[in-house]
Amino acid sequence: MTKPRLVFQSSLLLVLVMLHGLISAAQTQPQPATQHAILLHAARLLDVKNGSVVKPGEVLVLGERIVEVGSAVKHPAGVEVIDLGDQTLLPGLIDAHVHLFLHPGEEDLQTVQESVPQRTISATLAARDDLMAGFTAERDMGTEGAGSADTAVRDAINEGRIPGPRLRICGNAIDILGGHEDAIGYNPEQHVLPNATHANNAPELVAVIRQQVKEGADFIKIYETGTDSVRNGKLSTNYQYTEAELSAAVQEAARVGRRVAVHAMGEPGTLYAAQAGVASIDHANQLSEETMRLMREKQIFAVPTFTVFEYFADQPAKYFGDPTAPAVQRMRQMLDLHQREFRKQIAAGVPLAVGSDVGPFPHGTQAREFVLMVKYGMPPRAVMQADLINGAKLLGWDGQIGGLEPGYFADVIAVPGDPLQDISVLGNVSFVMKGGVIYKK
Ligand SMILES: [Zn+2]
Repeated sequence: MTKPRLVFQSSLLLVLVMLHGLISAAQTQPQPATQHAILLHAARLLDVKNGSVVKPGEVLVLGERIVEVGSAVKHPAGVEVIDLGDQTLLPGLIDAHVHLFLHPGEEDLQTVQESVPQRTISATLAARDDLMAGFTAERDMGTEGAGSADTAVRDAINEGRIPGPRLRICGNAIDILGGHEDAIGYNPEQHVLPNATHANNAPELVAVIRQQVKEGADFIKIYETGTDSVRNGKLSTNYQYTEAELSAAVQEAARVGRRVAVHAMGEPGTLYAAQAGVASIDHANQLSEETMRLMREKQIFAVPTFTVFEYFADQPAKYFGDPTAPAVQRMRQMLDLHQREFRKQIAAGVPLAVGSDVGPFPHGTQAREFVLMVKYGMPPRAVMQADLINGAKLLGWDGQIGGLEPGYFADVIAVPGDPLQDISVLGNVSFVMKGGVIYKK
């Protein structure tokens, strides 16, 4: 334990020096989008709505917005032309399930050992890594014990003081006493704090939601199920809140224009969440026919987060010490069950968004999620539409991001190859523009 900690501390120093540099740069040269026109040209352009590729592709950008898109757009006098050559232009990617405040390593230990300021510095670097990998918008699904520290990260990004995706944030997730994210297994006399905020009934949910909104939350995250086990291909998981309690939370959030997202792996918690009218059911490993029907009817998104399950299943030595450990077997069984259920969810027309649960695995590597969704039965075109069109809706930026359209934010990336032919090219982003500002070229 000592060695990695030392390495981390020395890298922290480096980080502080780098952050200082960034902040001084931002102070001396403010970073809003330039007001001169920029024209992006490339061999191909992804038309997300039609699920087709336009050849060649051009995007005209003025300030933070897109002005014109097509094969040949107007070239105003004095326009700065950026020719990206044999690449595909596409909208910035959306990750609907991230944890900027987590990094690889023992999840429960890092939240106990690292201070909130330390974790906030790490979160700013995670935000930068995600942006450089092409993710220009993200929904952060909980700081895991850093409270509303994500408010400062979101605001610093919005002010152009640090690089990062546009963020929707929720502060801490909410959980019952002794629930899925409580600090179980420690000496009770040490009073180790949970990674989530306790609420045990509807009035407590309402009070916590009011506090979180006060502190800057854009949406509310609730743990609805856990702990989980898989036996004979069937998932068993405890629910945490009743349908009535979740409805009270959804209603209170709606009163102040917020929505609720739940961590929910299976029944009956997933059904309660769908009945209550949440915005998304994250993980969604096993859904009943009735739950899938309600999700279709109410347009509730399932966010499968395959990458985190694969990562845990593939990292037995690191996390569990022994490849035959029951926890490893459980992860493999869970992934197997989930990919089978995912095919049923696609067939049933459940609305899907793309979220990786990055944090427990390295930030900036989460394009793996696209590859896994294709591997488990979704055509690349449908995966792109789930990510960009559904993701924009889920994050509340419908008509603003997720497409290369006039009037949209100029969130544009480029990749070699054609993602509709080979989705894995999304792991190799060569150009990143967010709100008209170029971050990677
Ligand atoms: Zn998560």
